[in-house]
Amino acid sequence: MSDEAPSSVRIQRPRRSAPEDIVRPTRAEVSLDALRHNLHAVRTHLSQLCVSPGKVWPVIKADAYGHGAPAVARTLERAGADGFCVALAEEGIELREAGIRAPILVMGGYYGHAYAELAHHRLTPVVYGENHLEALRLLALPDGDRMPLRVHLKVDTGMGRLGVLPAAARARFEAFSSLPGVEVTGLMTHFAEADTPDLFAMRAQLSSFDAVLRDLRTRGAAPLVVHAANSAATWRGLGLYDAVRPGLAMYGVASPVGDKALGEASLRPVLRLRTEIVDLRELPAGQAVGYGGLGRVTRASRVATVPIGYADGYVRSHTQAGRMLVRGRAVPVLGVVSMDMCMIDVTDVPGVSIADEVVVLGTQQGPLGHASISMSEFAASAGQIPWEVMTTLSRRVPRFYRES
Ligand SMILES: *Cc1c(COP(=O)(O)O)cnc(C)c1O
Repeated sequence: MSDEAPSSVRIQRPRRSAPEDIVRPTRAEVSLDALRHNLHAVRTHLSQLCVSPGKVWPVIKADAYGHGAPAVARTLERAGADGFCVALAEEGIELREAGIRAPILVMGGYYGHAYAELAHHRLTPVVYGENHLEALRLLALPDGDRMPLRVHLKVDTGMGRLGVLPAAARARFEAFSSLPGVEVTGLMTHFAEADTPDLFAMRAQLSSFDAVLRDLRTRGAAPLVVHAANSAATWRGLGLYDAVRPGLAMYGVASPVGDKALGEASLRPVLRLRTEIVDLRELPAGQAVGYGGLGRVTRASRVATVPIGYADGYVRSHTQAGRMLVRGRAVPVLGVVSMDMCMIDVTDVPGVSIADEVVVLGTQQGPLGHASISMSEFAASAGQIPWEVMTTLSRRVPRFYRES
């Protein structure tokens, strides 16, 4: 096959099953079908709100929230994602090298000396600062037959993190637009409080963004892709404009807003974390379990050792608090979570044996029933937020991709 076969360039193939050479049974399963479903769910939601064209640019920064960016991007691109958002230039380059052709927005705001690299890989950096202007001026991109470097201008409407302040937005827009070889193709902002129940802060950001937008449009600024909404704003139907930037929703996690979980009914969880029992022991009442003797059994107990620990991202705050599923039943974590392992109390699991599957996150169908540990339960038990749970899962946990 020729190196240049244009549509067949696929560098990293998702792995569909556990290869023989993996000894440890701990792994993260990523459902590609659930990913496609969630993209579709967001699209359906936009069309129900009559948003047109309702472009969706999934956020796949931080290795697609830990799910593996090349495989996630490939799946979502084929399912019709309009573009992608990442944080780092490196993340954008990784996607291009994996054969992704859709537009890729690099949102991090710092590009070091990598502007030529960005142009070469047709990545779209988010710009706003004097430093960006200066770097692009020095770069002096050729005007001729090469593609211009496309950039999106970011406005800081209240997040206080990245972006030009509204009062300077038009002048900054004009400065970027006047650079040879640079084309401003988008305008964006980011909400600081998309998931607080009251809409006060969001409304203030929206009105300030709208004012910038009106000002640019009355001056006949080039047609822009305008975008603002993360997952929570998307579900709330606020700041939808031309495109939305959902991260959390793509991975099937509802957006917590007050006591509501927005999108819950229409999303399917993507990530399942599983391992197997590697050791079982019968302990007498009063026996200590794990470091520091923190776990102590109060009755004669059966205790299972499970090969997942804080070095895998199963953080220490699950100590004496987490739950796992065995044979379709929930059981408690016993004692301190150690680096590579932890222990669970399986006294109440009849028929338990070594090599039984243990589900750490997700659902399990077993002889004792059907049980599940949701992302929100998992995060709450560890004092984490769902974004943190997904991105904390370490490199040591292999990701496997399932079609179903
Ligand atoms: C991470 C991020 C998003 C996605 O947020 P979710 O809450 O995961 O949907 C959107 N926009 C920007 C600028 C981000 O940094």
